[in-house]
Amino acid sequence: MARRYLSPFDLLAIYLEWRKTPKACWPWPGYVGRDGYGRYTAHQLAHRRMYEMFRGPIPDGHTIDHLCRNRVCVNPAHLEAVTRAENVMRGEGLCATNARKTHCPRGHPYSQENTERGVDARNGRPKRTCLQCRRDWQRAYYRRNRARVLARLRAAYRQKNAARH
Ligand SMILES: [Zn+2]
Ligand SMILES: [Zn+2]
Repeated sequence: MARRYLSPFDLLAIYLEWRKTPKACWPWPGYVGRDGYGRYTAHQLAHRRMYEMFRGPIPDGHTIDHLCRNRVCVNPAHLEAVTRAENVMRGEGLCATNARKTHCPRGHPYSQENTERGVDARNGRPKRTCLQCRRDWQRAYYRRNRARVLARLRAAYRQKNAARH
């Protein structure tokens, strides 16, 4: 999928929507990197850009912390400039962050209905799967492979019919 960066006009339109739910997390609608953070441009993190636009300049040596622990969120009210030491103290260690994460990297909630709990086959650790992401992924996969899937379904159907007669 092509990387989609938002124009200032896109952002303004989206912001007007977001403003209706000021307390909610605002999942970045543009490109999201593998690290789970939105990108404003290839080299600028979306939540940092949003902080600068709506809260002010980021002081030297400070990093922007998500109070909501939702990396993809860009709601300036959920962002806070902290020193790197503070950020480490808050437990940004991978394990602590994973256990506390309430949203998947694309910003869907890890709610009862949206989460499948299982075990990671690679390391034996408990793992959570976001069902919304899986559905999205399956839909995208299906679109890409429509012809192949249809051929397979048709073949299966023919086989079933052949077995019946
Ligand atoms: Zn948030
Ligand atoms: Zn998800």
